[in-house]
Amino acid sequence: MTDRYASFVQSAAGRALVKRLGLPDPPRLRRHHPGDPLLAGPALLGAATGGRLAEPIAEILTIAGVELADPAATPQRYGALLFDATGITDSTELRQLYDFFHPQARAVLPSGRVIVLGTPPQECATPREATAQRALEGLVRSIGKEFGRGTTAQLVYVTRSGNVAADGPDLSAGTHTSLESTIRFLLSGRSAYVSGQVIRVGGGAASTPADWDRPLDGEVVLVTGAARGIGAALAKVLARDGAKVVALDIPAAGDALAAVANDIGGTAVQLDLTAPDAPTRLAEHLASRHGRVDVVVHNAGITRDKTLGRMDADRWDQVIDVNLSSQERINDMLLERELIPAGGRIISVSSIAGIAGNRGQTNYATSKAGVIGLVDSLAPALRARGISVNAVAPGFIETRLTARIPLVVREAGRRMNSLAQGGLPVDVAETIGWLAWPASGAVSGNVVRVCGQSLLGA
Ligand code: NAD
Repeated sequence: MTDRYASFVQSAAGRALVKRLGLPDPPRLRRHHPGDPLLAGPALLGAATGGRLAEPIAEILTIAGVELADPAATPQRYGALLFDATGITDSTELRQLYDFFHPQARAVLPSGRVIVLGTPPQECATPREATAQRALEGLVRSIGKEFGRGTTAQLVYVTRSGNVAADGPDLSAGTHTSLESTIRFLLSGRSAYVSGQVIRVGGGAASTPADWDRPLDGEVVLVTGAARGIGAALAKVLARDGAKVVALDIPAAGDALAAVANDIGGTAVQLDLTAPDAPTRLAEHLASRHGRVDVVVHNAGITRDKTLGRMDADRWDQVIDVNLSSQERINDMLLERELIPAGGRIISVSSIAGIAGNRGQTNYATSKAGVIGLVDSLAPALRARGISVNAVAPGFIETRLTARIPLVVREAGRRMNSLAQGGLPVDVAETIGWLAWPASGAVSGNVVRVCGQSLLGA
């Protein structure tokens, strides 16, 4: 599936026409290639007075090989702007955001990054502090819409609990490692199509990889629905990052599945997830071949669209069963048999339709909102076992699924986001990859949208 319009406007003739006619101007996004530096230029780091994260962030950036810009040496162009806003405890202090970002608003390079760090409002000491920290969301989401040229903006709330000293700069080891994994992901081209997101970090264990270019080295990862589309991209990305991939799909997709598995040196499992014995067969397969599964990625999904009044019960049942109930049955079985060890991760694929709802998709949106409920309910329950649970919610991704949408609706879906284009399967895969890293173990209970900051469900 190709976006011909985007290819055209990125050509010389296209650029001229877009300028003259004021047409949508989808930028070419910076995507990750192994060995790439995290950023195309230096990072400018700022902090509100009394912030607790500037020091650990500076250390993380230095270790990651990011050049820190000297704020005095202006004018400059930056690969990223990062601001530690944890010191803001009252709305009157929000002015510090303006003072930092206003002079730099035009100094960010294409596909640049803006990251604001805050304290989760529910952990704040006073209502005024919670109010000011909540206000950060509005700034970040607006920057995501304003800066353009492929620049993305995110808010990262970093837990205070578990710090060595409640008011000091020290973070617990797990929180520090997952803050590093999150910063690395957000700065890199891996997060090309993620913007306007609020990510919560902290409250679990995490381990630093020996090599950040192979952050999944030796991990056993199950990917459902791996024969094509997002699942096939997932298998590729996770294998590239060092995982042993168990690729699963229905028997009818056996040939395509075998091709994916062979290509990456993984193994293939032909199984219909809705079969009554699917959880047992899968558990037995994983136990006998690997003895465990470190990461479970529930990606398999179907649509059976009809407006509710025209929808037969079969369409409803199939969608709920594949997209939601089968995930629950498999989780229950793998957890009951203790096949997901401490440090394990469960990642589900939701959809922005599960957030915004969608005409003709009552069954699908119900199942995908249910996936968010699964994250909300399982994440706290599994924290004691050291297992993280997260979801990604893709927006418009260029796959066979979206290729079937009628042209006009498809073109609208593609452009109605801050990046003015659809995402690629690899964008969803890279985001799931980051959540799958052992280093991201202290990221749990999040639903991260991979939607280019879509206007739907915003
Ligand atoms: P796809 O149809 O290309 O791939 C889905 C895969 O799941 C297929 O290979 C299919 O055979 C497999 N599958 C279906 N039922 C199964 C079952 N019972 N047992 C085992 N495997 C089964 O879809 P995609 O676009 O790659 O979507 C992947 C996931 O992303 C889905 O959960 C989908 O809902 C979600 N999603 C996609 C988009 C998008 O724009 N493409 C947007 C939001 C969410």
